[in-house]
Amino acid sequence: MLALAMVLASCRAETVRPPRPPPPAQEPSPALRYTITYVREPEPSLEVEVVRGSDAPREFLFTQEGGVRTVQAYSRTGEARVLQVEDRGISVPEDTRVLRYRYALETRRRGRWWNFSGGLKTGEDALLLAGRSWLIRPRVAEPGVRVELSVKGADALLPWQPGPDGQYHVSAEDLVDSGFQAFGGRRCQAQLQGAVLDIAILGTMTHVEDAQLCDWLRQRAEEVRYVRSRFPFPRISVSIYPVPGREDANVFGMVMWSSPPSVALLVGQDARLDALHRDWTALHELLHLTHPTFVPRAAWISEGLATYFTELVQARSGRMSAEAVWAEMIRGFRRGRAQAAGQTLQEMIDDSAPPGIYWVGAFFSLRLDVAIRRATHNARGLQDVLELLATQGSTSTVDAYGAAVDAVAGKPIFRALLEEDLHRPAFAGLEGLLEDLGVTPTPGGVTIQPARDSVLREALDGQKASRIQ
Ligand SMILES: [Zn+2]
Repeated sequence: MLALAMVLASCRAETVRPPRPPPPAQEPSPALRYTITYVREPEPSLEVEVVRGSDAPREFLFTQEGGVRTVQAYSRTGEARVLQVEDRGISVPEDTRVLRYRYALETRRRGRWWNFSGGLKTGEDALLLAGRSWLIRPRVAEPGVRVELSVKGADALLPWQPGPDGQYHVSAEDLVDSGFQAFGGRRCQAQLQGAVLDIAILGTMTHVEDAQLCDWLRQRAEEVRYVRSRFPFPRISVSIYPVPGREDANVFGMVMWSSPPSVALLVGQDARLDALHRDWTALHELLHLTHPTFVPRAAWISEGLATYFTELVQARSGRMSAEAVWAEMIRGFRRGRAQAAGQTLQEMIDDSAPPGIYWVGAFFSLRLDVAIRRATHNARGLQDVLELLATQGSTSTVDAYGAAVDAVAGKPIFRALLEEDLHRPAFAGLEGLLEDLGVTPTPGGVTIQPARDSVLREALDGQKASRIQ
């Protein structure tokens, strides 16, 4: 702004000579400059070079263990040293100017594939990888430590947006979880109101065009606004990986909490468009963006919220009837109850075993939503809690979640509801709650009829009784 004002002033003063362009902004050089090169021969690898600027940290860490064993450190005079990675970390000598290491992708195909540590490679020279398995970062992740990062050898889609110079300008903090990363493949963008999805397509679907895939994702992302007033991030990245030999729309979906978050969706390569449109996985993953991350991890809240709203949103958007959605939710609750086999909510939280933890969390979400609506004469609901939490930062705790529930309800309800559920068999009270809402399970699904809390049920699923008869 200041530079612009000076240029304008010089325009007025100097009528003879054309004005000189403003000097380039003098950004201080970054503490760390990363160059990542995707090499294919003799084996697919990532070669990483990190140049340390002045005041660069000396302590480095790999977020995930076991990916890299040694790192070469070069002093300012060119002397090379091999540093062994111990306890995920290295400490470099003070005069270290450059770090180099190689991450061989094929040899990392071990452990659980959903760690994405070896990368999922398609026959089309495209790769889906988790950054935390291979990208070294400062041990102390201070937001003030500036990092510049560039990628060579493949077109990459990282969680961050490159600057006009093609480089990524991030902070050490951004490298703690460097999210899902796509190398190669094709790109498209889904434009939403006030947000954009940058999408990597890492293979070719047999029955679905790229444009249809992107439009499908756009539609699912639009549905997030049935829960939050706006899409929770101005931009996120999504990688779609078509799994060969599969026809089902939903093979796997996952969000990584990079900043901003990044999503991977594994879809059957032979899936048809109508199967994608019937599936709920993409919606579920995108709905995870509506809540903060809970520290320590609380899957019964985060998975509960995503599972609960996945069902409701499909009715709110009109993609499914209210009956179908309630029938699905009850099927899930019964699955959870069968898994619980008499365990309390506390015991299920301790086990944290899917899918029961998802469904017991969804049931508690329903209990909270109904309680908030009863307390506020149906003026507010659980989604207002998410809206409130979004103003409080990207992470939260169980206590802060409870406080937000109480604030939205206008009175303390969270602790009493939780205490009641923690020590009795999970899903206790389900039948009574459904009866209050006017939802009656039948052998073939459910029927919906007028009941004490019909008006709350209409607010939850968004469908008036007149529409569903
Ligand atoms: Zn989930």
